[in-house]
Amino acid sequence: MTTTAAPLTIPFRFFDVHVVRTRRLGPSMVRVTFGGPDLGELTAGGRDQRFKLFLPQPHQDAPVLKDRGEGWYTTWRTQDPAERAVMRSYTVRAHRADPAELDVDFALHGAGPAATDTGGPAARWAARAEPGDRVTVLAPVAADNGGVDFRPPPGTDWILITGDETALPAVAGILEWLPPGTRAKVWIEVPHADDRQELPTLADADITWIVREEVPGDHRQPLLDAVRAAELPEGAPYAWIAGEAGTVKALRRHLVREREFERRAVKFTGYWRRGASEEDLIAELTAGTAPSDED
Ligand SMILES: Cc1cc2nc3c(=O)[nH]c(=O)nc-3n(C[C@H](O)[C@H](O)[C@H](O)COP(=O)(O)OP(=O)(O)OC[C@H]3O[C@@H](n4cnc5c(N)ncnc54)[C@H](O)[C@@H]3O)c2cc1C
Repeated sequence: MTTTAAPLTIPFRFFDVHVVRTRRLGPSMVRVTFGGPDLGELTAGGRDQRFKLFLPQPHQDAPVLKDRGEGWYTTWRTQDPAERAVMRSYTVRAHRADPAELDVDFALHGAGPAATDTGGPAARWAARAEPGDRVTVLAPVAADNGGVDFRPPPGTDWILITGDETALPAVAGILEWLPPGTRAKVWIEVPHADDRQELPTLADADITWIVREEVPGDHRQPLLDAVRAAELPEGAPYAWIAGEAGTVKALRRHLVREREFERRAVKFTGYWRRGASEEDLIAELTAGTAPSDED
């Protein structure tokens, strides 16, 4: 898992924002549009631009962050977990200047409007978000920032992109960004057929949707099966893989060991891990017990 426990605050800053509107994109995804007084300063790098989202606890109406300076992460860690803001990683799906708005697409993973529904705090928050709800984001103020991972080197002949629904906002951003005519092979796994989206791109992209509910039997890693079975183009590849950490690792291993991709031509990021919340992952990183990405 390559989640960064404490992202650099330069060139990032905290923004207090509120929900302007929400829109259901499909059975498993909701788009939340945020607005806020300073949001015009947010400058994302496009592609898979990550940021940190801070949510209130269920009994609060705004997230509690006692320190917004350089030492914010240390202070956040020492705050009472039941009172401090819930911190999660998300992707800038889109941002606009006038009016200043930020779109974030949330995978709901089991969360719905009922209080008894499953899903983690972020999915539950998104499922119930209403105009006016307050959150804080730690987001970039410069386009060239360390929160963009998709960086194909010069000399790349074609691009391989693969991810699940949590990576779909990043995949959409990457496809929008790719120069016209770039050759790309894309595999995206989503829970339901209606979770598929239009993905505008000028790239020469061959997009395959894998719908989990349509996969027969107990195939745990349909993305891996699909990529394994694929005929890949000739030439120098660059691969970007994100989603569930176990699947990401297996895909990377396949590309490096069986397809002989150069290691540095494969950017891979565990966006979540089955059975572990983001707090668990941060705790592992802090304790130095996180499993190696290189396994
Ligand atoms: C750089 C980066 C960018 C990301 N961008 C996005 C994004 O734009 N949109 C988005 O939806 N997600 C995104 N994610 C993934 C998101 O941060 C995780 O899914 C996160 O765990 C959700 O928090 P939560 O509070 O809902 O669940 P948590 O409290 O973290 O986890 C609770 C339980 O739910 C499980 N779980 C978490 N996510 C899923 C899932 N998708 N499906 C099934 N079970 C799950 C966990 O394994 C755990 O058992 C991103 C992650 C990273 C690292």
